[in-house]
Amino acid sequence: MIPAAYAVLNLDAVQHNLQRVRQLAPNAKIMAVIKANGYGHGLIRIAKALQNADAFAVARVDEGIRLRKAGIKNRIAVLEGFTCAEELDELVNYQLDPLVHSVDQLKILESREEHDACAVWLKLDTGMNRLGFKPKEFCQAYQRLNKCSMVRSPINLMTHLANADDRQDAITLKQISLFYDTLALLPSDPELSNELSIANSAGILAWKEALTDWVRPGLMLYGISPFSDSTGEQLGLRPIMGLHSRLIAVKSLLKGDKVGYSGAWVCEKSTILGVVAVGYGDGYPRHAKSGTPVLVNGQRVPLIGRVSMDMITVDLETQPDAKPGDPVTLWGDGLAIEEIALCAETIPYTLVCGVTQRVQIVEKSELKTAVSLIPGICY
Ligand SMILES: *Cc1c(COP(=O)(O)O)cnc(C)c1O
Repeated sequence: MIPAAYAVLNLDAVQHNLQRVRQLAPNAKIMAVIKANGYGHGLIRIAKALQNADAFAVARVDEGIRLRKAGIKNRIAVLEGFTCAEELDELVNYQLDPLVHSVDQLKILESREEHDACAVWLKLDTGMNRLGFKPKEFCQAYQRLNKCSMVRSPINLMTHLANADDRQDAITLKQISLFYDTLALLPSDPELSNELSIANSAGILAWKEALTDWVRPGLMLYGISPFSDSTGEQLGLRPIMGLHSRLIAVKSLLKGDKVGYSGAWVCEKSTILGVVAVGYGDGYPRHAKSGTPVLVNGQRVPLIGRVSMDMITVDLETQPDAKPGDPVTLWGDGLAIEEIALCAETIPYTLVCGVTQRVQIVEKSELKTAVSLIPGICY
């Protein structure tokens, strides 16, 4: 029997995707971004599959601590930095490298007397207007940071691209020039060579100007395209996650019958309806519109009606022999997650991050045994 709502992870693809980053940025060190539970794939699992990355990046301190407690030894950058002295203590204790992006953080660092206790990334805001010092404030922030005894030299420098997923948008080149122009004004010390970082996945794939000492791929490591007009596979990546479930009911409907909440779908002719055990309670997007493709027995059929918490409904007109228990793929082999994201007017980031706790995660290499461990289910 095939279980309801489960995700299969092909971890062999992680190494392939890392190699693809190395190919595109052969001279750069790779900071693998594994925030938000490794984009929903499992923080520790992905960190272990990526041990040969040069560093990791997470958003929050607690994510970094979880990695250290799991025995991860790589450098780890914490992209949101810290907001209080206690959090800075944790960063030091666990040897995590914070982003420094605000004057409040500088003040905390200046109040400390330890020596060389932590490495930092100083962030320049080149137009994203989220975290980072403005170009005008940057030189002073750099000099203040340089005087902090607890901060290790040389200070690492980074910025973040706001529009790199739009290959036509010249804003990206402006951000990159602003980054270098601002760095050119820093006091130069030939003894020191700061390491720089600009590119996220879209930067790596579309903007060679963004390649420098460090690249920070996230989405592409999971085999997914950051561009709305291509799939990961078209970019030479291999998707890691597939989301699967099964049919649990099949029935005939007549012309005029309404399907699901609000009767949002009205049958234009008689057909066969399939009910699939997956819904927004599993992370399937509630806004997936009628017509969103679903694979039943490996064949495309359209979603019809509203997505509910535990179920979706599909039109089985082209598959009159489908029966309860048959396998269903929501995204994965043969059905690109990028296409599902478009049908739900969202981005693939939210789909992978949104897979909920109810969904059993199974590594492909352990598929047979792992699935049989779910109570009441044999594969
Ligand atoms: C999330 C994030 C990344 C990775 O972005 P992707 O688009 O997933 O490659 C890189 N840098 C920063 C600062 C981030 O917040």
